Amino acid sequence: MLIDSNICNGCRKCIEACPFGAIQFYEEKNIAVKCDLCISRINEGLLPACVHHCPTNALLFETPSTASLERGKSKMIFSYRLSKNVFSGYY
Ligand code: SF4
Ligand code: SF4
Repeated sequence: MLIDSNICNGCRKCIEACPFGAIQFYEEKNIAVKCDLCISRINEGLLPACVHHCPTNALLFETPSTASLERGKSKMIFSYRLSKNVFSGYY
């Protein structure tokens, strides 16, 4: 899920609705912001910044075709839809 900052009106309903506190409010721009899986890094062939810096490999980045359901039970797995068209215009 990505937030299109061009049409976010800053109502904050998503922030209230998210049970994980994953969405923050960017006061200066009056928009909601959240993790975008570091899509700009991924598009450059890099790992998400948090995965790159994790010292224990507790964070993994895998595509849906290679993601292991078994490993998914104990580790956080980022899935990324390979079609870049899905994300175009949202970062
Ligand atoms: S603040 Fe959240 S719910 Fe409101 S318009 Fe922006 S993304 Fe949508
Ligand atoms: S560093 Fe990790 S948590 Fe932060 S935006 Fe990138 S993928 Fe999301």
